[in-house]
Amino acid sequence: MSHAGNAGGQPGTQRTTYRAPVLSEPSRAYAELVAGNRRFVGGAPHHPNQDAGHRAAVADGQHPFAVIVGCSDSRLAAEIIFDRGLGDLFVVRTAGHTAGPEVLGSVEYAVTVLGTPLVVVLGHDLCGAVQAARESAATGTAPSGHLGAVVDAVLPSLRRAEAEGVDDIDGIVDIHIAQTVETLLGQSPVLADEVARGRCAVVGMSYRLAAGAVRPVAAVPAGFATLDTPADPAAPATV
Ligand SMILES: [Zn+2]
Repeated sequence: MSHAGNAGGQPGTQRTTYRAPVLSEPSRAYAELVAGNRRFVGGAPHHPNQDAGHRAAVADGQHPFAVIVGCSDSRLAAEIIFDRGLGDLFVVRTAGHTAGPEVLGSVEYAVTVLGTPLVVVLGHDLCGAVQAARESAATGTAPSGHLGAVVDAVLPSLRRAEAEGVDDIDGIVDIHIAQTVETLLGQSPVLADEVARGRCAVVGMSYRLAAGAVRPVAAVPAGFATLDTPADPAAPATV
């Protein structure tokens, strides 16, 4: 029995390996993510880069092709919903995908040191952090402990939604995703410079918990996210 490519693994259990090349172009990185999400939505994931051979291959260095700044929600696991594996995604997650100093520093590390060409802000429908902020604003009460910091970080998005006349929770989530994209770029001149030079793009995506599909809701540079997302016909084709 051959154990080629399955060093340390159990015979017969190796999964299909679908290795992506080292991606340096934002558009190729985005296409790779969308393709992975389509496989996941369609129930035909490849589970790429999760075998023991690949684990060993990436032990000496990483070249992730996307940074995911996502909500911590347990149903939003980046490598699962984008059908990727070890070394593919540089993931930073907080409740409500807030963008404080440590998050900004992590993004800058990936973009400037690792050369990652794409930053994705990943939110989702029915986000608990957004709902908590909404309740706090409605009642005028702040949550106890450090949860207040999460709520405070989401409140600017609530005020923006109110100014735009948006009051449904999913509409507010979309605004919060777009707001986080703007915050990343506004607070990180390093990231903004990489985008201005064309070496990186930032895309905001919203994930639907039941369907498993992502759709773009914001992009810098404008018009970058031009790939359609057929899993969600209501999604805009371009943002
Ligand atoms: Zn959430």
